[in-house]
Amino acid sequence: MSIYRSMARISLKSALAELSSNDDQRLKYAALELRMTIESVTYDRALAYKDEFPPQEYATWQPKKIMLVLLELDPTADIDSTLSFGSEPELGERPVTMTSMGSESVFNLRTIKIHYDALGSFLHVSSMKHMGSPIDYVKMRKRCEVIATALGEVLASPVFNITLGNFARFDCGVCKKPIRKRIPGKIDTLDCNCFDCKASYTLTRLSDGRVQIEPHEEEIHCANKQCGHIAFVQRREIEKDSHWKCQKCNGLNVFRLSLFHIPCTSGTP
Ligand SMILES: [Zn+2]
Ligand SMILES: [Zn+2]
Repeated sequence: MSIYRSMARISLKSALAELSSNDDQRLKYAALELRMTIESVTYDRALAYKDEFPPQEYATWQPKKIMLVLLELDPTADIDSTLSFGSEPELGERPVTMTSMGSESVFNLRTIKIHYDALGSFLHVSSMKHMGSPIDYVKMRKRCEVIATALGEVLASPVFNITLGNFARFDCGVCKKPIRKRIPGKIDTLDCNCFDCKASYTLTRLSDGRVQIEPHEEEIHCANKQCGHIAFVQRREIEKDSHWKCQKCNGLNVFRLSLFHIPCTSGTP
């Protein structure tokens, strides 16, 4: 179990203790603990995807944004699921009997959107615009109880962080670091980047199930007319002032913006 799942259990327990006090003045503390529980279960879900989670998103803390990243990686990341197994009568045939290991309830994007910001509003005093409006503690308590119930179901799941899927694995052609990319079932072509050197690739699922890996690089001749040596340049490196050293003539090839004028030949402007 991850540290985040343990933290979620602790903060949910604290929230339930605050709710059971029946003291309206304690509701804001319940709301705070529930917010922290939502953050913890979402971070826990993200940990299940840590090999695929873009490092530049590690600083992201809002549950909604994290779940959006996960959904981009795996469209089923926030869907409840059941894990079952069985013996195939023949290779590829559906088992007659399946044994369930249990179901997982995920605190999904829709629920995060409905409740997370609302809980935040319980943590602040009324703005000057709303000064004088009475706080509806009954409504506030009801919402906290609904959220606590949903989080309780998530944390009671006998199996959790199921991330089964099809993956392409290959070594980056530039830095040689391993790349692992999930290919969702309904998608046949997608782009991916190396987390280390940012080289990019297009992955295409072929009819026989194999995956074709096409690096985003261009075949470019050395600009020295006497040389013409061919270099393979990453597409991300084709930008103004980017350059490479020719392996044959040792000259520098530099990308520059150019504007050429072609005179009018028809006699009319
Ligand atoms: Zn790389
Ligand atoms: Zn050259």
